[in-house]
Amino acid sequence: MGQRTGGKAARLAAAVDLGGSKILSVVADGHGKIVSRDLRATPADKSPQAVIRAVTGSLRAAIAGAGERASRITSIGLGAPGISNPETGVVFTSPNLPQWKEVPLRDIVAREMGMPVWLINDANAAALGELYFGAARGTRNFIYVTISTGIGGGIVTGGRLYTGTSGVAGEVGHMTIADDGPECTCGNRGCWEQMASGTALAREARKRISEGADTAIVEIARGDATRVTAETVSQAFDRGDALAGELVGRTSYYLGVGFANLINIFNPELIVIGGGLANMGDKLLAPAYREAGRRAFKEAFRAVRFARAQLEADSGALGAAVWALRNAG
Ligand SMILES: [Zn+2]
Repeated sequence: MGQRTGGKAARLAAAVDLGGSKILSVVADGHGKIVSRDLRATPADKSPQAVIRAVTGSLRAAIAGAGERASRITSIGLGAPGISNPETGVVFTSPNLPQWKEVPLRDIVAREMGMPVWLINDANAAALGELYFGAARGTRNFIYVTISTGIGGGIVTGGRLYTGTSGVAGEVGHMTIADDGPECTCGNRGCWEQMASGTALAREARKRISEGADTAIVEIARGDATRVTAETVSQAFDRGDALAGELVGRTSYYLGVGFANLINIFNPELIVIGGGLANMGDKLLAPAYREAGRRAFKEAFRAVRFARAQLEADSGALGAAVWALRNAG
């Protein structure tokens, strides 16, 4: 695996960011320039075969969009959600794709497309995208954390993505924060994403409303507690609602606990924060950084910067493209 991607400037990769709701395919070069793209819905409730057909259909559309430059495509990068092994190309399980169990995704797509395919976890791909083209350019030790319905991550040490012994590394959202906390989709309890994600924020709001809390959240959700989302709580926060303030504060607190763990274990120079919940901005993140500062080693906390992700929607696809270009050599 070479670190350079631009040696033969003409090489292109096709890449997919397979999400629980959307499939984004791009054709891109090693400098992060996107030549063409295709975006379509993920048939997540259908069989793995149907989802894979949508992936190859999206790839073919992006490749067709590249026109005569398609002849320069040498490999395919595949960013997929859930637990997967980049060495074997198998997706073991995926909370966003509940029917998926040990799907040999890499080999199926390689056979369909007639090209070498490189598999990578979606959050790891986004970390690579930020490393090469976004907020983490020029850093050696950084952690990417995406906070949305769940919490995902990617760990870069010494300028390289750390994928672990069997490809599971970087699942920061499943570090245990509360040993007797709520059950998680992974089978454990009290994972970080059960304490500090957008899903957790909405769940706590609905619980407090069902217990009779007096809050503007109910009014914003038009009286229907089942419609309460993290966005509803955020709007109530902006109106000065006391319960929303308490719940956002609780989310910040647990985010800070997790950041402190990451800072003490990895001593990174940078933590890049992406994901929809992070769009709440300082009202959520500033108290989280302060909590991390109270808990982490002072030497480690002084050394770390926090930055918002720069690529967002394209980070996974661009990272998967880089992953393919680097691995294809
Ligand atoms: Zn978990």
